[in-house]
Amino acid sequence: MTDRRVDEKEVGVRPGERTVFVTRTYMPDLEAYTGMLRGIWASGQVTNNGPLCQELESALLPHHGTRHVLLMGNGTITLQIAIRALEVGGEVITTPFSYVASTTAVLWEQCTPVFADIAPDGFNIDPSAIEAAITPRTTAVLATHVYGLPCDVEAIERIARRHGLKVIYDAAHAFGTLYRGRPLLSYGDVSSCSFHATKIFHTVEGGSVACNDAALYDRMRLMRSFGHIGDAHHIAGINGKNSELHAAMGLLVLARFKEILERRREQWERYAACLSGVPVRTAHIPAGTQYNHAYFPVVLPNEAALLAVVEALGAIGVMPRRYFYPALNTLPYVNRSGGCPVAEDVARRVLCLPLYHDLSDAWIERIAEVLNRTVR
Ligand SMILES: *Cc1c(COP(=O)(O)O)cnc(C)c1O
Repeated sequence: MTDRRVDEKEVGVRPGERTVFVTRTYMPDLEAYTGMLRGIWASGQVTNNGPLCQELESALLPHHGTRHVLLMGNGTITLQIAIRALEVGGEVITTPFSYVASTTAVLWEQCTPVFADIAPDGFNIDPSAIEAAITPRTTAVLATHVYGLPCDVEAIERIARRHGLKVIYDAAHAFGTLYRGRPLLSYGDVSSCSFHATKIFHTVEGGSVACNDAALYDRMRLMRSFGHIGDAHHIAGINGKNSELHAAMGLLVLARFKEILERRREQWERYAACLSGVPVRTAHIPAGTQYNHAYFPVVLPNEAALLAVVEALGAIGVMPRRYFYPALNTLPYVNRSGGCPVAEDVARRVLCLPLYHDLSDAWIERIAEVLNRTVR
């Protein structure tokens, strides 16, 4: 579907415009990046926690709101390292509505994902479903702040405390969201973020873990670099490092992040205004949230309507994405016992509309118009 090329003349795409995908990577000023590359060339240090990685890590700290942050190679290894460092085993209660990496990370760490359904009329895991899924083998909850919208962090923390469970947040979408005046990334025992090129803040490939516990931080830091410092080998680690070239990209994108957030809010509000009166459900921003407006999901009345919208948008060169489909509890390699009817239903009907820094207002209006025409 996303590989389909549309003849721009035929479909009336304006000259010079290309296919509109769900996202487009923010590219900083090339001259500025070249300048940073010159510095890297001069020093000869391209990786292994060099000065740019350290500078980025420090600059990222206030965006996470925790005592410690580690920059890593991607947002999947961060989840795996968090699971490992917290000594999570047995069953991990997780969400059926997320990107597949939040389930595969659990599986790769030899744990059993147990799926707790999402809340009706929302996108995030339902705390009462978490409570119902707890068994003597449960050791942790791995929840995703889907689309950068906060989970019910207070309820999850209460349940975790009562049952002695660890809480890991897959906060891959949450960079820039504040909840109750604090970065959403500051909640949980560990929050993991992704800085992949498709995310609102990116380092091309990259990720972070954030925590407050110093011993946990030390363990994750060791794990990031094969578990040794010089010749002293402490634990069995892995390679979770990132490079100076990625950190340079991150520093330049971070310098523009305020503008990216501001523009995203305008675009998001334009979609919301254009779609008011169209019978689709959009995201509800919970009270106390300063949202990063990372995604614009629409839940269509049924799957047939979704397919009709995909077709109609495709005809004008627009490629939305089925984020997230299918529900993760239906993956062929997980234990399918116990359905998650809410997540399975939403996964069949949800579409993320294109949203990125230089998507024009005119495109937003055209996309909304197609939706309006198709769904009515
Ligand atoms: C992008 C994403 C990941 C994976 O991050 P990578 O940096 O691509 O490894 C994990 N979870 C969610 C919810 C994501 O959207």
